[in-house]
Parts: sequence; C-alpha cells; structure tokens
Amino acid sequence: MLHYDLHCHSTASDGTLSPTELLRHAAAQGVDVLALTDHDVTTGLVEAEKTAGEVGVTLVPGVEISVTWGHCLLHIVGLDVDPRNEVLQRGLAGLRDFRIWRAEEMGRRLERRASIGGAYEGARALAQGPSIGRTHFARFLVAQGKARDQQQAFDRYLKRGKPGYVPGEWAPMTEAVQWIRAAGGQAVIAHPARYALSATRFRVLLSEFKEAGGAAIEVISGSYPHGMTPALANYAQRFELLASVGSDYHGPGQSCNELGRLPALPTGCVPVWESWNPTQGLRRSAGR
Ligand code: AMP
Ligand code: MN
Ligand code: MN
Ligand code: MN
Repeated sequence: MLHYDLHCHSTASDGTLSPTELLRHAAAQGVDVLALTDHDVTTGLVEAEKTAGEVGVTLVPGVEISVTWGHCLLHIVGLDVDPRNEVLQRGLAGLRDFRIWRAEEMGRRLERRASIGGAYEGARALAQGPSIGRTHFARFLVAQGKARDQQQAFDRYLKRGKPGYVPGEWAPMTEAVQWIRAAGGQAVIAHPARYALSATRFRVLLSEFKEAGGAAIEVISGSYPHGMTPALANYAQRFELLASVGSDYHGPGQSCNELGRLPALPTGCVPVWESWNPTQGLRRSAGR
C-alpha cells in the first residue's frame, strides 16, 4: 500500500525546508506520494519535481488557495494541477499581489498600533519565496522577543481583531475551484474542522463546494488532533466527496505535525487518489 501525504509547504511559501530538502525528508519518512501545496504559488514545483525523481517519491503538483467565503477565510487545496495553466496562474498572481499589499499594511499597523517597527522588512527577509504571509511575521515577532512562539504571535498580533490583522478579500470559493479545474486538478477543502463553522453552515459550505465542482475534503489533517475524523468521514460520504489526507507540514519544529505521519482513512471513505496512477505519471483518466 502506498503512503500518501497530500498537503505540505516549502520555502516557496511559509515552509522552512526548500523543495529539495522537503522531498528528501519525505523519502526518509517513507512517503511514496507527496503533494507540495504552497500558499497561492507553484514556483516550488520545478525543484520539487527534479528531486522527487532522484529520491523515488511521486510528486503531485499542488497549491493551497486562500479563499473568502462569507466572513470566513478558507483554504482550498488543488491537487494534480498543471502549473502552466494560465487561468490558474492569473488567479494566483492576483492573490500574491494582495499578499504584498497586505504585508506592507501589516507592517504599518504593527508600527502604529503595537509600536513594533521594521516588521514588514523583517518578514520580507524571512520570506524566501514569492508568497509572503502571516507566518513570516510570526517568526519575526518571535525573533524580536515579542512572543514566545508562533502561536502566541498569532494570538497577540496577527489573528482577526489583533493589531497586525488586515481584513481583505481573497478568491471567491467558486473561482478558486474553477482555476483548479481549469488546470486539470481536483479541488479539496483543506483542514475543514479548523473553520469554526456551525453544523448548518458547514453543510452549506459542502453543498456549495460540491455544486462548484469541488472533489474532496481533507478527512485527515495534521493541523489538528484527529477527534473529528469519523464525523468528517461521514460528511464526505453524505456529500459524495472524496477523502484526502495531509499533514500540512511546514518544516522541522514548525508545528506538531510531522511529514507523512497520518492515520489511515476510515473504511467507507473513497480516497482522492482512487483514480490516480502514480506509476505512470498522475494524469487522471476522465471521470472524477
Ligand atoms: P496567511 O495565509 O498569510 O494569512 O497565513 C496563514 C498561515 O499562518 C497558515 O497556513 C498557517 O501556516 C499559519 N497560521 C494560521 N493561524 C495560525 C495560528 N493560530 N497559529 C500558528 N500558525 C497559524
Ligand atoms: Mn501556512
Ligand atoms: Mn491552510
Ligand atoms: Mn497548508
């Protein structure tokens, strides 16, 4: 049985391992099939693909798209996308433009509201890739002694309602799903238990996502404990969505979830990789 991990980050966004280091680590962890899913950017995939061949891991080209749905910030993962697709790249470029403006504005707000100077420059220096985000600010704030760890940096400065938070509109959900589908990929709701939605709202989300052409939800996510797994497996079955698994790994010591350390999907789930053929490249046959 192949070992899948379909959600992680490299230095192209807010991970701390380069794509090469990440693929080597995946091989060491016994991962057979790895999706690199950087935030709103696919530039890590070229290097990742090269190393994947060297270390014997099958790379699934992916991306994690930032979405605004109602008042909620959602993440939609695209799996097996063609990174050369123009519709996808145009969409991602718009989100990265917003990220740059937001980062400058975060710097101004931290200065004005929390008397923390140089945060934009500090975060910019930590962001090696083209997708700057709150994680880079969190690392800067920890390095400056403003917080003892990233969690505290988010809680004090970066979460909604805190001095460095900048509201804004990301991609509409239906558009993010369309970009992914235009690029030949499958759209997956990332870490669905993290959004603090009521059961009713969650069902609305799943039906709108399904209606928009979404394919799967992460039934297993490394970004929180696994207590919700049976409930998510039920939702996937009820809404006829496929099931994905992903650690959301960001690098050594970045969070509690290790690359590739994921429990098996509950029986009854149809894995998102059901129609893939990892030994002959990933391009799926028609169908779901
Ligand atoms: P951004 O897309 O720039 O708003 O940043 C979102 C990223 O920040 C997520 O992908 C996580 O890596 C990280 N993150 C979000 N919330 C938290 C939190 N409460 N504690 C630590 N990291 C977080
Ligand atoms: Mn992240
Ligand atoms: Mn996410
Ligand atoms: Mn992620």
